Amino acid sequence: MKSHAQAVVIGGGVVGCSVLYHLTKAGWKDVVLVERDELTSGSTWHAAGGMHTVNLDPNVAKLQQYTINLYKEIEEISGQSCGVHITGGLMLAGTQDRLDWLRQAHARGRYLGMSMEFVDIDEAARQFPLMDKKYFAGALYDPIEGHVDPAGVTNAYAKAARIQGAEIYRFTRVTALEHRPDGSWTVITDKGSIHAEHVVNAAGLWAREVGRMVGLELPVLAMEHQYLITEEIPEVKASKTEMLHVIDFEGEIYMRQEGTGMLMGTYERAGVPWSERETPWNYTQELLPPDLERIAPSLEVGFKHYPAIERAGIKKVINGPFTFAPDGNPVIGPVRGLRNYWLACGVMAGFSQGGGVGLALSNWMIEGDPGFDIWGMDVARFGDWATLAYTNAKVRENYSRRFRIRFPNEELPAARPLRTTPVYDRLKAEGAVWGVSFGLEHALWFARDGMKPEEEVTFRRSNAHDTVGAECHAVRTGVGLMEISTYAKYEVTGAGAEAWLSHLLVARMPQQGRLVLAPMLNPNGKLIGDFTVAKAAPERFYIFGSGIAEDYHMRWFETRLPDRGVAIRPLRSELTGFSIAGPRSRELLQRLTPIDVSNSAFPFLSFREMDLGMIPAKVGRITFTGDLGYEIWVDVDYQRALYDLLAETGRDLGLRLFGGRALNSLRLEKSFGSWAREYRPIYGPFEAGLGRFVHLRKNDFIGRDAALTEKEAGPKRRLVTFVVRDAGADCIGDEPVWHAGKVVGWITSGGYAHHVRKSVALGYVPAELGAAPDGFEIEIIGNRRPAMITPLPLFDPDGARMRG
Ligand SMILES: Cc1cc2nc3c(=O)[nH]c(=O)nc-3n(C[C@H](O)[C@H](O)[C@H](O)COP(=O)(O)OP(=O)(O)OC[C@H]3O[C@@H](n4cnc5c(N)ncnc54)[C@H](O)[C@@H]3O)c2cc1C
Repeated sequence: MKSHAQAVVIGGGVVGCSVLYHLTKAGWKDVVLVERDELTSGSTWHAAGGMHTVNLDPNVAKLQQYTINLYKEIEEISGQSCGVHITGGLMLAGTQDRLDWLRQAHARGRYLGMSMEFVDIDEAARQFPLMDKKYFAGALYDPIEGHVDPAGVTNAYAKAARIQGAEIYRFTRVTALEHRPDGSWTVITDKGSIHAEHVVNAAGLWAREVGRMVGLELPVLAMEHQYLITEEIPEVKASKTEMLHVIDFEGEIYMRQEGTGMLMGTYERAGVPWSERETPWNYTQELLPPDLERIAPSLEVGFKHYPAIERAGIKKVINGPFTFAPDGNPVIGPVRGLRNYWLACGVMAGFSQGGGVGLALSNWMIEGDPGFDIWGMDVARFGDWATLAYTNAKVRENYSRRFRIRFPNEELPAARPLRTTPVYDRLKAEGAVWGVSFGLEHALWFARDGMKPEEEVTFRRSNAHDTVGAECHAVRTGVGLMEISTYAKYEVTGAGAEAWLSHLLVARMPQQGRLVLAPMLNPNGKLIGDFTVAKAAPERFYIFGSGIAEDYHMRWFETRLPDRGVAIRPLRSELTGFSIAGPRSRELLQRLTPIDVSNSAFPFLSFREMDLGMIPAKVGRITFTGDLGYEIWVDVDYQRALYDLLAETGRDLGLRLFGGRALNSLRLEKSFGSWAREYRPIYGPFEAGLGRFVHLRKNDFIGRDAALTEKEAGPKRRLVTFVVRDAGADCIGDEPVWHAGKVVGWITSGGYAHHVRKSVALGYVPAELGAAPDGFEIEIIGNRRPAMITPLPLFDPDGARMRG
């Protein structure tokens, strides 16, 4: 065994072997994989080996595409067959809602370059003769679905990695990890120790245990999963071509050919976790006892939908565990506060995702950046609120919903409420309908006039539409009040604070008492943050940003913090906030303070600490509604008093609560982009329309050279605002944009802009098309709707309201 390595990968399942292969492919030769037993002996060996490209997150879908296309490459290098069967696949829909869902997946596939096509039921039955047509309404055909041999794939990765210089130690268990002062690791195994610069936790079923070795409680949990293999089916035996891979959503079933029979698996609603607290170390290539009772409801549907399967009978039932994260996507990346410790865990579809995970992680380890937008898989999307019990509740929910439709306005109920602010009950009493962001409950809209505080789930406009419209109206004509505690807030202090911030962010830092808008770039000049920065005192700044990205940003901040002179602290649950917005918001604020808040004394982008009544507050003159407005921040123990004061004082001004749905409508008509939608690490600041905040001539800052190049070359695409011809359904994001009969771009978010009474969408198109407003169509639920670019915001285009 080597005593030193550049990287040690813990775990020889399909994911660890893929990471090892990608590290060697990118040029790291001094790498080692340590496997407790034989390769594949976790969840990999008994997988059904199915693979497909469809994923709700287009960025994950792209990596799934990459994985499937990779098998040829590793077969060639290793000489090991992956047992690839590209049969093509059918996704069968039994309901109108499911057809709508498939239409959206199909549309999304267009701009990802996937060539899926809709087929009618007769064609579907021709392609897959085992189905009984009467249960289905339509189908989507994907030519690059199929299945692989799990052991073949894992060994192909492993052999290819070995050929490229890696070493693999089987029957060697990592028992402890010690962090050295220089950030490297001592990997202690039952066969000796290795000093490694980096370690990768790819321990699959034991990811939690390997996490606990360094004090982490990872949000992953294994669920039992069953599939069965039928006896011979005459129709299958007689078929000249291999049966397609099939997903039957209403039956919650997937299928593929196995020998002369079929393999049929199901994600049952009453799923059962396996080893809820701890995975036994002596579990190796064992199957769990089958429990047909549990999957009986799905089998019943399966037998009805595919009578030949019922006739054939069951030859074998496989029950095995594999891990899931609370939202079903992988958990990868560096861990905040743990230098050189990397995760490649929670991969529930190793044969669709393993390659993409390996590629992204190896890029990240070697280049410092995953090279793609992998937010949907980044461990930083979970905070410390994702505890063992939270994960348990969410993983069960996710498993039971694996083949269910997730509507764009659907809020899932498990593990809630967990994080709430002190005004939760007050807002609930006002009819709040809740959403959740980074574990924190926040109001989406407020049911009034006897309406039930429940939103129907739909791809179209919901029962909340008119109420949200009334909330928007209150903001635009009077004054609205919204809780904004979900924003991330950070305090940056110290003599070096200003210089440090100016090195991280693209904008010039503000004068004391002022705010600036400040995007953040990575060294490649791509957007990795979008903040408001306030200077409260010479050595004290506040940064406000996206709440969901708090850990993502803290990880970035902390790794770039100098040894002395600067401190940064997230104020997650310490600081709570409200936005007051609308033409009468100044009047409301003025009633609460003797300080002059007139436009001349407290202009747009001012920031000041002031008492509101008895309450010490920080007030910024800014609002995401694009109107006149203020953000007010107070320590959490003052929040209820502030809420009561605002509600009481604003009553005769017509103050009305508004929620996240109204805010979205208001910011769309102002063409304001938002983090994780319009602003993501695949876009540069100039294409995202944030070029005006980039001060290339101030001090050097991260991403400056790349930003300069983008500016000089001119952005390749542009973020634009579309007005879509109204059809009763609005864009939600990820719809393709058509021009002259071709897909040329995609939508990042959309909705109904109530004040201007238009269906609005933001999205990216090639720069050369961004100046020509006409000729666009946006595909919404299967319909191509005419759309026009509006060069100026629809509301307050000259900023008179916002600045006045
Ligand atoms: C019944 C069933 C059907 C499935 N069907 C499909 C399918 O059709 N398609 C699909 O894509 N996926 C399928 N899966 C899921 C798939 O198996 C997983 O996505 C995949 O196996 C995850 O691989 P992994 O490498 O992350 O984890 P694992 O396979 O669990 O590998 C982890 C490895 O780490 C080793 N290890 C752990 N701790 C240590 C330590 N301390 N020291 C050394 N080594 C250690 C373990 O021994 C193990 O070999 C299925 C799973 C099951 C159970």
